[in-house]
Amino acid sequence: TPDNLSILDFDKMSLIPAIVQDAQSGVILMQGFMDQAALSTTFEKGLVTFYSRSKQRLWTKGEESGNVLKLVSAYTDCDRDSLLLLADPAGPTCHLGTQSCFDEARPAIAFLSELERVICERKDADPAQSYTAALFSKDLSRSCQKVGEEGVEVALAAMKQDQNELRNESADLLYHLIVLLQRSGLSLEQVVETLNERHK
Ligand code: AMP
Ligand code: ZN
Ligand code: ZN
Ligand code: ZN
Repeated sequence: TPDNLSILDFDKMSLIPAIVQDAQSGVILMQGFMDQAALSTTFEKGLVTFYSRSKQRLWTKGEESGNVLKLVSAYTDCDRDSLLLLADPAGPTCHLGTQSCFDEARPAIAFLSELERVICERKDADPAQSYTAALFSKDLSRSCQKVGEEGVEVALAAMKQDQNELRNESADLLYHLIVLLQRSGLSLEQVVETLNERHK
C-alpha cells in the first residue's frame, strides 16, 4: 500500500467507501466498501477488491464474471475517509450487464471516449458492414481530406449562424478527427493532455 494510503482514517469507520472510476473515460463505474485487508489485496493483486457486506468477506470484483477492475491509481479525499480508484474495466462492471452501476448518470461528454473505443474496434471490422471500417480501408489521405472538409463545413455553418447545422457539422468533424487521430497513432486523451499542459 502506498504511503499516502496507509494513513487512511479506518478509525472513524472500519469500512471506507471506495468509488471506482474508468481511468480512460472518467465514467463512475461502481461504489463499494474497503477495509484495510481489501485495500492491501487491491494493491497486491492490482485488482479492485472490496469488503462485501452481504458476502461478509473480501470480494475481488469480477472473481466469478471475469469482469475485473484493473487498478490504475488510487487517491484519498481531503480528510482521508474515502477512496477514489481509477481502473481499467475488463467488461461491464454492473452485474446487471451495464458498463456502470450508475449507467443513467453518465455525463454526455464521456461518450467521446466511448466513441473512440468503438472507432478503435472497427479497425478490424468488415468494411461492407461498417462506415468506420470502410474509412480505415481507404488511404490515410481520405481521412485527411474528410477532416479538412468537415472543418470548412463547421466554419460555414458558424458564418451562417445556423446552430443546427453547426451542431451536425461539429459532430462530423469530431468523428473524423478521432478516426484520423487513431490512424495516426494518437489518442483523444493525448490531445486533451496537451490542452491541459498548455493551461498550466
Ligand atoms: P463478479 O464479482 O463480477 O464475479 O460478480 C459476483 C457477484 O458479485 C454477482 O453475482 C453479484 O452478486 C455481485 N456483484 C457483481 N458486480 C457487482 C456490482 N457492480 N455491484 C454490486 N454487486 C455486484
Ligand atoms: Zn472525506
Ligand atoms: Zn450494479
Ligand atoms: Zn459534414
